[in-house]
Amino acid sequence: MYALVTGASRGIGAAIARRLATDGFDVVLNYRTNLAAAESVAAAVIAAGRQAELLPCDVADRATTMAAMTALVERRGAPAAVVINAGITRDGILAFLPADDWDAVLATSLGGFYHVVKPLIGAMLKARAGRVVTIASVSGQMGNAGQVNYSAAKGAVIAATKALAREVAKRGLTANVVAPGLIETDMTKDLPVAEMVKAVPMQRLGTANEVASAVGFLCSPGASYITGQVLGVNGGLYT
Ligand code: NDP
Repeated sequence: MYALVTGASRGIGAAIARRLATDGFDVVLNYRTNLAAAESVAAAVIAAGRQAELLPCDVADRATTMAAMTALVERRGAPAAVVINAGITRDGILAFLPADDWDAVLATSLGGFYHVVKPLIGAMLKARAGRVVTIASVSGQMGNAGQVNYSAAKGAVIAATKALAREVAKRGLTANVVAPGLIETDMTKDLPVAEMVKAVPMQRLGTANEVASAVGFLCSPGASYITGQVLGVNGGLYT
């Protein structure tokens, strides 16, 4: 039984990989460029007694990603869980947002969803089992000023995951979304977080492990009748 986690070299994806290993999954770790970080996550997976495989590719790149996913299914069969986590920000207000920043964010989050899930889902349907968990964002739920591109991408993957949930439910597959709020990772390290947490009812950043707990639950046997849902992990920022 293996799980594929995209963007698993750092931050939330790394925490998810470690958590799923603890929960008994072998883990295929996708990342873009950071080999050293991915290797240290792989070491943690192995230390938890599971197998780890590195699968570097840029999920925004359609041809290489779809080929890599097709080869993965041929090599290892259907994944028991797929976590669509890889994502980037290119913040700026729309009036000044370069087209490249619009395209890059959409290609990574929304393109990545299609490029990864599409080649895998046929085998998962045949297996009549499997979990898809998409990491969205509170920005995709409420819209965030300065993040029109990111809010659009995250809102789109929420809708895509809900639609997928309806397509695959008859075969016993589930598809759910985890929508984090402000989480302490490289993505947020240059933001004015001391100011931003004032808007969070819990008055603090979340941790990557707190997001990973929600993903672990949604991939667990106990979540077998939960599908098409959006689970916020946001300290009360959006309810
Ligand atoms: P980080 O920037 O800390 O880590 C991003 C990870 O994604 C890295 O492993 C990186 O790989 C990988 N990655 C980025 N682009 C690609 C790509 N094109 N192809 C493959 N892998 C890629 O981000 P976070 O851990 O903070 O975020 C993880 C997810 O959670 C994202 O989808 C983000 O939008 C979402 N999120 C984060 C929040 C936060 O506050 N941090 C809040 C809400 C949602 P490499 O190391 O090789 O660069």
